[in-house]
Amino acid sequence: MTDVILIDFDAAGGVDLDRLERSLGLRGERLGGGRYRVTGGAQDHWVDLYTADHPRCDCGDHLWRERICKHILAALLREGNERVLTALPSLIARANTAA
Ligand SMILES: [Zn+2]
Repeated sequence: MTDVILIDFDAAGGVDLDRLERSLGLRGERLGGGRYRVTGGAQDHWVDLYTADHPRCDCGDHLWRERICKHILAALLREGNERVLTALPSLIARANTAA
Protein backbone atom coordinates (compact mmCIF):
# COMPACT_ATOMS: atom_id res chain seq x y z
CA MET A 1 0.00 0.00 0.00
CA THR A 2 1.41 3.33 -0.99
CA ASP A 3 -0.18 6.16 0.89
CA VAL A 4 0.75 9.55 -0.43
CA ILE A 5 -0.02 12.65 1.55
CA LEU A 6 -1.60 15.02 -0.93
CA ILE A 7 -0.97 18.16 1.03
CA ASP A 8 0.70 20.91 -0.97
CA PHE A 9 2.84 22.37 1.79
CA ASP A 10 4.06 25.33 -0.23
CA ALA A 11 0.60 26.33 -1.45
CA ALA A 12 -0.64 26.15 2.14
CA GLY A 13 2.10 28.44 3.40
CA GLY A 14 4.48 25.73 4.62
CA VAL A 15 4.81 24.49 8.18
CA ASP A 16 3.86 27.40 10.40
CA LEU A 17 5.97 27.37 13.57
CA ASP A 18 3.25 28.89 15.78
CA ARG A 19 0.83 26.17 14.74
CA LEU A 20 3.52 23.53 15.09
CA GLU A 21 4.24 24.68 18.64
CA ARG A 22 0.56 24.44 19.55
CA SER A 23 0.28 21.03 17.88
CA LEU A 24 2.82 19.60 20.30
CA GLY A 25 0.30 19.89 23.15
CA LEU A 26 -2.39 17.93 21.31
CA ARG A 27 -3.11 14.24 21.45
CA GLY A 28 -3.72 12.18 18.35
CA GLU A 29 -5.60 8.91 18.30
CA ARG A 30 -4.79 6.93 15.16
CA LEU A 31 -7.88 5.37 13.65
CA GLY A 32 -6.14 3.76 10.68
CA GLY A 33 -5.73 4.80 7.05
CA GLY A 34 -4.27 8.16 7.94
CA ARG A 35 -7.31 9.15 9.99
CA TYR A 36 -6.84 10.73 13.38
CA ARG A 37 -9.01 12.03 16.14
CA VAL A 38 -7.13 14.98 17.61
CA THR A 39 -7.95 16.00 21.16
CA GLY A 40 -6.51 18.31 23.77
CA GLY A 41 -7.59 21.61 22.19
CA ALA A 42 -10.75 23.63 22.71
CA GLN A 43 -12.62 21.15 20.50
CA ASP A 44 -11.93 17.69 19.17
CA HIS A 45 -11.22 17.49 15.44
CA TRP A 46 -11.01 14.80 12.83
CA VAL A 47 -8.10 14.67 10.43
CA ASP A 48 -7.91 12.62 7.25
CA LEU A 49 -4.48 12.68 5.64
CA TYR A 50 -5.01 10.42 2.67
CA THR A 51 -8.42 11.18 1.21
CA ALA A 52 -8.19 13.83 -1.46
CA ASP A 53 -11.90 14.52 -1.94
CA HIS A 54 -12.54 15.14 1.73
CA PRO A 55 -11.62 17.97 4.06
CA ARG A 56 -8.36 17.04 5.73
CA CYS A 57 -9.47 18.63 9.00
CA ASP A 58 -12.85 19.95 10.04
CA CYS A 59 -11.56 23.03 11.88
CA GLY A 60 -12.00 26.59 10.65
CA ASP A 61 -8.29 27.27 10.41
CA HIS A 62 -7.98 24.62 7.71
CA LEU A 63 -11.37 24.97 5.98
CA TRP A 64 -11.49 28.76 5.78
CA ARG A 65 -7.89 29.88 5.84
CA GLU A 66 -6.67 26.82 3.92
CA ARG A 67 -3.67 26.55 6.21
CA ILE A 68 -2.04 23.42 7.54
CA CYS A 69 -3.67 23.56 10.96
CA LYS A 70 -2.27 22.33 14.26
CA HIS A 71 -4.47 19.21 14.07
CA ILE A 72 -3.03 18.18 10.71
CA LEU A 73 0.45 18.90 12.06
CA ALA A 74 -0.27 16.71 15.09
CA ALA A 75 -1.33 13.88 12.76
CA LEU A 76 1.68 14.38 10.48
CA LEU A 77 4.03 14.23 13.47
CA ARG A 78 2.56 10.87 14.40
CA GLU A 79 3.05 9.68 10.82
CA GLY A 80 6.70 10.70 10.98
CA ASN A 81 6.27 13.16 8.12
CA GLU A 82 9.69 14.46 7.14
CA ARG A 83 8.56 17.96 6.24
CA VAL A 84 7.12 18.44 9.70
CA LEU A 85 9.95 16.71 11.57
CA THR A 86 12.58 18.83 9.84
CA ALA A 87 10.75 21.97 11.00
CA LEU A 88 11.25 21.00 14.64
CA PRO A 89 14.85 22.31 14.89
CA SER A 90 13.61 25.76 13.80
CA LEU A 91 11.02 25.64 16.53
CA ILE A 92 13.59 24.64 19.14
CA ALA A 93 16.00 27.35 17.97
CA ARG A 94 13.23 29.93 18.21
CA ALA A 95 12.34 28.76 21.72
CA ASN A 96 15.97 29.03 22.80
CA THR A 97 16.22 32.55 21.37
CA ALA A 98 13.10 33.64 23.23
CA ALA A 99 14.27 32.20 26.54
ZN1 LIG B 1 -7.58 21.50 12.17
